[in-house]
Amino acid sequence: MEVLRITPRGYCHGVVDAFRIAKRVREGTQGPVYMLGQLVHNTHATDDLQEQGIKLVDPPNRLAGLEQINEGTVIFTAHGVSPQVKARAAEKGLNAVDATCSDVVRTHELVIRLAEQGYDVVYIGRKGHPEPEGVMGEAPGKVHLVQDFEDIEALQIENPRVAVTCQTTLSLWDTDELINRVRERYPQAEVHNEICRATQERQEAAVEAAKEVDLVIVVGSPRSSNSLRLVEVVKKLGGKPAHLVNDLEDIRPEWFTGIRKVGVTSGASTPSQLTRRVIEYLEALAPAQPAENAAQA
Ligand code: SF4
Repeated sequence: MEVLRITPRGYCHGVVDAFRIAKRVREGTQGPVYMLGQLVHNTHATDDLQEQGIKLVDPPNRLAGLEQINEGTVIFTAHGVSPQVKARAAEKGLNAVDATCSDVVRTHELVIRLAEQGYDVVYIGRKGHPEPEGVMGEAPGKVHLVQDFEDIEALQIENPRVAVTCQTTLSLWDTDELINRVRERYPQAEVHNEICRATQERQEAAVEAAKEVDLVIVVGSPRSSNSLRLVEVVKKLGGKPAHLVNDLEDIRPEWFTGIRKVGVTSGASTPSQLTRRVIEYLEALAPAQPAENAAQA
């Protein structure tokens, strides 16, 4: 069995920046430091941050989470927060540090501008994910979250000015289909596809690699939107089986029966040492002729 290291994979610029900010805050700040939700969606990365002394508050929504923090510093995660959360943090006298990814900030700014120009915004995103929560807070009542075709059918927008945009970490292909459906319902809709470059490049590489492997392993956390989407696009567009593994313990040897070549990729929030461990494990399973298309691990 050969192991193909799919590239690009792993950390994106937004995740690297968030870690840099968190480290700077922890080292340079007196008093307790909290992250409001997982700084990036990976349990290993979150555990590391907690070991460095950054406490995790992780409720279903950010505003509720703030009520658990009464002193010190709060870090807003790479996924962004709503203005309501920022205002509440200020009201509580917390020292707020914003680690929102610049690509997410751009979507916030887009939605603010569209709302100011009188648009209703159809926002394609995952319900319950913090990124839509933050974006929707920028223009309450003007942003309509849709996750699937049924949500689009249920839209009731009378406004002639309609725009459609999306979460940064969605599947490229599923999002295109949903955008097309929105345009069927609202032909005048202005399209702003906000899927970030890191997500796009990782998905395209995984689908391309699927042509030459029998199976793809995606290293990432079940909470990571971009990791889950990598599994989906390999199955749907690449036509190959794919499994998400958060750690070595998730790997099942029976997956590799009859497999000649396996591809390995990882989500944008997956620590590289974790991916390296998975690659080494797979290579040790059948160390015939490991193949690489990149030196990065
Ligand atoms: Fe930013 Fe994209 Fe990385 Fe998310 S996946 S942190 S939006 S670069």
